[in-house]
Amino acid sequence: MGKVNELTSEDFYEIIHRIYEIMKKEEKYLTDLDAAIGDADHGINMHRGFSLAVERLKDVDPKNSDIGTILQTTGFALLETVGGAAGPLYGMWFTQMGMETSGKTSLNKEEIVKMFEVGLKTVQETGGGTVPGEKTMVDALYPAVEEMKKALEDPNCDLVCMFEKATKAAEEGMKATIPMIAKKGRASYLGERSRGHQDPGATSTYYIIRTFYEYVKEKAEKS
Ligand code: ADP
Ligand code: MG
Repeated sequence: MGKVNELTSEDFYEIIHRIYEIMKKEEKYLTDLDAAIGDADHGINMHRGFSLAVERLKDVDPKNSDIGTILQTTGFALLETVGGAAGPLYGMWFTQMGMETSGKTSLNKEEIVKMFEVGLKTVQETGGGTVPGEKTMVDALYPAVEEMKKALEDPNCDLVCMFEKATKAAEEGMKATIPMIAKKGRASYLGERSRGHQDPGATSTYYIIRTFYEYVKEKAEKS
């Protein structure tokens, strides 16, 4: 298995399509999670958002496009169609990662980590200063980005190694939302009754990180 040290525009183009596939596949599960502590629309929202992203990406040729355009096209589609809390959160996440990667047709490990750091900061700000422990998507994204930053210090840890660690951290963060009391978003209206349920946004965020991992692993196996 070869090492993967960069991601190109074509890789990002494919990754967005795979995120769409997983949101389609898990639509019902994500919506069921939201039914327990929200308004039963998270899966519908994510599926609808990424459907439009994929639709809009038909006008983008990954061979002649920068990564910024692909991510901003995705972010704008989410902003336009998702609404509620998730629209701005996921929409700004991808839009700002797109601003960060504007003009670039490939990203190395350092640039990818920087992109995710910017994305995390944007999500936290958009959420109104969301920190880990509040039973949100930040509980999955924050530890994933922490693992990415650690991987930067290890030159032997390529993108497969990095995203494997990040995915594990996101999964643990996602599961850790179960006993939490929600402090942000719709679920926070439930107070104590939000305990005992996994946060839908942390779950979809885990899927997004895992998609990067599965993609780079496959890329390594082919190389
Ligand atoms: P809505 O809450 O508008 O129905 P969704 O159901 O699509 O939107 O998304 C809900 C998810 O959004 C939650 O599970 C949580 O992870 C995330 N979320 C909600 N509010 C915030 C916030 N202030 N900061 C971070 N994430 C949040
Ligand atoms: Mg909802």
